[in-house]
Amino acid sequence: MIKKLAKKLLRCIFFTGRRYCCSVCGWHIKEYLPLSTFYTENLKKYGFKYNIEHFETLNLANYSCPICAASDRDRLYALFIGKLLTQIQNRKMQNFSILDFAPSKPLTNYIRRNIKKLNLPVLYRTADLYAEKVDDKVDIMNMMGIYKNNQFDFFICSHVLEHVKDDKKALRELYQILKPNGCGILMTPINLDVETTDESTTTDEEERWRRFGQFDHIRLYSKSDYLLRINEAGFFVRQLGKEYFGKNFFDVNGLSDKNILYVVEKKGSI
Ligand SMILES: [Zn+2]
Repeated sequence: MIKKLAKKLLRCIFFTGRRYCCSVCGWHIKEYLPLSTFYTENLKKYGFKYNIEHFETLNLANYSCPICAASDRDRLYALFIGKLLTQIQNRKMQNFSILDFAPSKPLTNYIRRNIKKLNLPVLYRTADLYAEKVDDKVDIMNMMGIYKNNQFDFFICSHVLEHVKDDKKALRELYQILKPNGCGILMTPINLDVETTDESTTTDEEERWRRFGQFDHIRLYSKSDYLLRINEAGFFVRQLGKEYFGKNFFDVNGLSDKNILYVVEKKGSI
């Protein structure tokens, strides 16, 4: 198994004709690695009723980078964050602050590396309720003791809401900590076949696999309900895809038409 994976890795990295370029690590590679069969096999085993190919922003074939392990969604976020950091530099913005929930290691490295490289006045903090190596231990449903109202210019909250008991409270808290005119990346698994959001407090892992697609998820949103809950929290939401980032960037990152970035904005008081 290890030998097979090592072979595959070498092929991805060194084979001639490297048509891809990962936006997170910048390496040119021949191909991305597929999603682990751990997920596909479990979904099948526990009878997940939706088509796994109908998840937005989940490229089963071009899932992770063989160099930095960035997932397809990490590569999508890096495209947006790269533009954001350039804006901070060009507009000479001061004291820009970013909060990253449940941070992904490749993306954290990308952000820290670029803040340093561009010598930007950006405060970047990571947060999680359980992970050890983060700046702040924070419950996303109750952040007011840790952060202030209107504290951050930008947040990343990716694949968190499907884990928390009260996602509406979490959304309200996210709105509170964001500055007026601030924005954030807000992502959750969306399967386009789902018509009504399904949620439950069950702790039965087999049932969670079957209903929500993962052992530690407690809900699976329908797209329309997800957008509604975001709006109800006060956010304006934009959906950015290939047209926004450009076909070439999508192609070299192994992204597809199904890769959609949800960017939420807290409109200013004017
Ligand atoms: Zn990479």
